[in-house]
Amino acid sequence: MLWIDYIMKNYHTHTFRCKHASGDVKDYVKVAIENGITVLGISDHTPLPDNRWLNVRMHFSELGNYVNAIISAKSEFTQIKILKGMECEYAKEYHSFYQEKLLGEYGFDYLIGAPHYFTDGNEWKNTYGDLVHGKDLIAYGNYVVESMQSGLFRFIAHPDLFGNSYLPWDENTIACSKDILQAAEELKIPLEINGLGFRKPRVNSPKGKRRMYPLDEFWELASGYNISVVLNSDAHRPQDVAASIDKGLAMAQKYQLKIADLADLEE
Ligand SMILES: [Zn+2]
Ligand SMILES: [Zn+2]
Repeated sequence: MLWIDYIMKNYHTHTFRCKHASGDVKDYVKVAIENGITVLGISDHTPLPDNRWLNVRMHFSELGNYVNAIISAKSEFTQIKILKGMECEYAKEYHSFYQEKLLGEYGFDYLIGAPHYFTDGNEWKNTYGDLVHGKDLIAYGNYVVESMQSGLFRFIAHPDLFGNSYLPWDENTIACSKDILQAAEELKIPLEINGLGFRKPRVNSPKGKRRMYPLDEFWELASGYNISVVLNSDAHRPQDVAASIDKGLAMAQKYQLKIADLADLEE
């Protein structure tokens, strides 16, 4: 595959249903076609059977409507490959919903594992704000590894999301990152270099201003593992459907990371 091909695919796209994105499936598809995107994966934040964390996702009752919006776009726009996906928080109690409903009954092409929340087995915490101590990083790392071990997810979104709240790069971030990278290597699960992180405001770390994520230190460490990466825009607005994928590619090239081949999803 040529380098250019990698930035012509985006597997991480939202819709208005999650309440912090705009536009519906067809709005993203139209901009994707204008930008020469050849494969567009729609992957809104999953609804959950108990409507947990409802402020950042669709209501469970909107699942059918979301699926229909993708089906309708697929039949209207045949010049682009559209994939039916979902971005999911892993919890044991949702395993059968993901496996049997989404991948089974609804025939989703793929699910993305995405650690916006994490748990130490007792309470759930938000990566945005609650991830400040070493023990939080341990819990986050374990949670991401457990998500990978579930076998449900085609890749893991923004594994280095911890950088939005945990500001130093220290022995805790190194240990957490190594746990995630080692599991990704062993389980052969690609990790995403998330484009949205390139477009977000920077934070003040002890070493000065930096991105919340993707973290250079994380991906530099990743170069020592036999892992592969997925480059996505994580679009929350139609005009961002192809955004920052080139930056993800530059990062992958800088650290000589292998790009994952997700062509099986197109079959
Ligand atoms: Zn989102
Ligand atoms: Zn997302």
